Formats: sequence, structure tokens, C-alpha cells
Amino acid sequence: MAFLDDRAPNWTEWFGTDDLDERIKDYVLAISKLVWQRQMIFIAAAILSAFYFDPVTTFAGYSAVLFTELLDLFLARRVMNWTETDRRKTRLFLLGVVANTVLSASAISFFVISVALQQVGGGHFTPLFFLFAASLFAAMNNSQMIGVLLVRLAIYGCTFIFIALYDVILFKPPLGSAAWLEFFTIVFVLYFIVDVSLVFYGQYQERLQQMLKIKEENERTKAAYEIKSQFLSTVSHELRTPLTSIKASLELINAGALGEVPPALEPAMNIAAKNARRLSNLIDDLLDLQKIEAGEMVFHFERINVRELVEEAIESTKGYADQLKINMITVFPKDDIFIAGDHSRLMQVMANLLSNALKFSDEGGTVQVRIAMHGARARISVRDEGVGIPENSKDKVFGKFSQVDSSDVRRIGGTGLGMSITKQIVERHEGTVDYESEFGNGSTFYVEFDCKLPGKAANSNETALDEQKAANA
Ligand code: ADP
Repeated sequence: MAFLDDRAPNWTEWFGTDDLDERIKDYVLAISKLVWQRQMIFIAAAILSAFYFDPVTTFAGYSAVLFTELLDLFLARRVMNWTETDRRKTRLFLLGVVANTVLSASAISFFVISVALQQVGGGHFTPLFFLFAASLFAAMNNSQMIGVLLVRLAIYGCTFIFIALYDVILFKPPLGSAAWLEFFTIVFVLYFIVDVSLVFYGQYQERLQQMLKIKEENERTKAAYEIKSQFLSTVSHELRTPLTSIKASLELINAGALGEVPPALEPAMNIAAKNARRLSNLIDDLLDLQKIEAGEMVFHFERINVRELVEEAIESTKGYADQLKINMITVFPKDDIFIAGDHSRLMQVMANLLSNALKFSDEGGTVQVRIAMHGARARISVRDEGVGIPENSKDKVFGKFSQVDSSDVRRIGGTGLGMSITKQIVERHEGTVDYESEFGNGSTFYVEFDCKLPGKAANSNETALDEQKAANA
């Protein structure tokens, strides 16, 4: 017997498992999703039987079914809004589901029996097929709660047997008659329905197990990620303080503030200072990344004059540009452009774009910084004549700890975090960052922001432009 094999449910799972809340929700969701499909089936059955059988009885049966459908909808609405875990509520909803199932299965059975009783002496093809369709529908769609499904199937089963036995008892036909044939066919159909129910139940259980595994895996990944983040954050914080003093001391020594540095020591001291700076940048980047990922980076939005921002950023990278003998030129519009942004974070964005442009340029090259309106948005672009970026490298450019040419790490230096941080900061400003580049022929990185001011409609370009005009006037 199929229902005794390993697909058979563990009876303790019927109504009282730990995931009962989930099952009730799944069950209710499934019946709600199929509400229109069920209505079409009921209406079709009602029209058919009203035409060929007694319309008054049909109407009574159909009304009873409709009433139980309304009860189902009412229950579904309450279950959908149910968020807290409360055993009492679980029991209450379970009771509701079982009561509705009994009512709905009884109404359908009443309807089917009323049709069957009107077919005196003949086969009961139509009502039996109605019932078969209802049973199959339940077997396919109600596997979330096997107990509830079995309650429904038990009621349908009794109805099947009643219809089958009705003629046999009423007319006492010989064993070879059509009435007995109908009876045995019904027993076969019942077995088939139970078997199908178990197949669907087995599949549902499998899906549930898989979901559980994915959920557990997800939790484990989350926990590991949190530990990694905490570890990274603690290490970075612990390293930062001593490193800051090492860096400051080395800079003081190299500047000659503590006395003249013996020439033999100078190269070693310079290397030490350079690496301390590099390490300090890496730690700053790590801490920033950490903050962004934890959603702890605070942004203080204010009205920012893009030109002033860019000039300040260029000023602070001028020393680096001079060192590399790179000429920096600017192209600014006649009128000032204003955006809403966090000044220090935008300075960080600019510093990153400028230092990359400088660092990937050849000595004696030119870096051009341009501010322009691009449609309704302000665009700041930084163009260099450096090494350029090969096609399809966006993932590497904006990825974490990634560089287009990993040999750059040693040759040019860098953490591979700058552009990833830049992208996240820009996106927190509802801006975009992108680049155009030809490998070997330089790159143009650009950021774009809405020209809107703090406290105004977030996506209203008209507002932004009005403000722009007002600001420019
Ligand atoms: P890094 O610390 O290595 O500069 P970024 O995240 O700032 O890390 O940049 C990621 C990678 O993108 C760089 O290693 C480099 O390969 C590429 N890149 C960024 N800006 C430029 C540029 N102006 N020219 C060429 N390559 C660039």
C-alpha cells in the first residue's frame, strides 16, 4: 500500500510541529492564491447542474460553498496579518483552518450528494467527477497541512462511499451489475487520490527541508560574516593608534624636526615613512568599508558649491601632482553649481579620483578636471592620459580589494578599496560613478549628482533646476 511506504507522514507532524505557524501561513497563502481558480470551477459546476438538475437545490448547494469560501477569505486575511509568535493564536488559527475545512468539504459534499440523489437508478458520473475534481484539487494544493488535507479527503471519501453504496443498498443489484462496478471504481479512485496526496505531501516536505537548509546556511554565512567584520574592525582600530604615532614620528624625523638625519639613514627612513603612510591608508579604507557595510557611516548633508569642492580637492593633491610632475588643469562652467552632499565624504571621493588619475599617469602627463551640467545633473569628471583600463573591467575597478592589473599593487601601490568606497559614498548621495577608458590611452572617471538642495524633493528635477537657476542668479 502506497500510504504505508516512506512517503507516509509522521503522524506527530499532523498538527503540532514547531513549524506549524509557517505551515498555516503557507496553507492560507496557497488557498488565497487559488481563490479565483476555485470560483471558476464552482461556477462551472453550478451552471452545469442548474441546467440539467434542479436549479433550487443547486443554488442552495452553491450558496453553502460560497459561504465557506467567504469564511476562508476572512481567515486568510487574519492569518496574513499575523506576525507575533503566540501559541494561543496558533491554536486558534489551526482550529479555524480545521473548522473551515470541515464546513467547506461538507458544503461541497452536500452539493454533490444533492446532484447524485436526483439521478435515480442511473450511474452518477457527473457528481462523482465533481467530487473527484475537488479531491484532486485539494490533494495537489493542500499538502502544507497533511492533517487538514486528510480531514477534507475523509469527508470526500465518505461522500464517495455514500454515493456508491446508495444504489447498491437501495436496489440490491447482483455483483455483476453496473452499480457494483461503480462502487469498485470508486474504491480504486479513492486509493488513487490518497496516493496522489502523499506524492504531493512528499514533495512539499522536500521543499520545506531544502528551505530549512538554505535558511541554516544563510544564518551560518551571516554569523561568519559578522565575526569577520568584528575581527577586521577590532584589528583595524587596534592598529590605527600605534600606527598614527609611528607615522607622525617618522614624518617629524624626515622633516628634520628632531635634528639632522644622517644621510646613510635617509633612504631607509623614507621607505619606512612611505610604508607607514600606505599602511595607514589601508587601515582607513578598511574602517570606512566597515562603517559603510554596517550602515554606520554618518552623512551630514549640506549645500555644496561643486567648484569650491573641486578646487579644495585639487589643492590638497597638488603636492602629489608636483612630485609626479603632472600638470593639473580645470574646466569650470561660468555659473556655480550646487549639490547636496557631505563635504568630507565628497572630498574623499574627489581625493580618490584625483589620486588614481595621478598615480596611473605617466610623468609629465596632464590631468583635466571638468565640471559641467549633464542633463539635469552635475557632472565632475577627471581625465588622465595614463595607462587606461582594458574593456570589461568594471567589476575589478569597483570591486573590493581588486585591481585591474594585480601587479599594480606593488608597482603603483593601493588597496583596491578606494573605488568601492567611492561608489558607495556616491550612491548614498543618490549619485552615480562611472568611467570611460581606452586601454593605453587614459581614462575619464566621472561622478554625477542631482542638483538639489537639502530639505527639498528628492527626485524632482524641476525643483532642482529652479534651485539651480535661483542659485545662479
Ligand atoms: P587602488 O587602491 O588600487 O587605486 P581603487 O579601488 O582606487 O584601488 O581602484 C581600483 C583599480 O581600478 C585600480 O587598481 C586600477 O587598476 C583601476 N583604476 C582606477 N582608476 C584608474 C585610472 N585613473 N586609470 C587606470 N586605472 C585605474
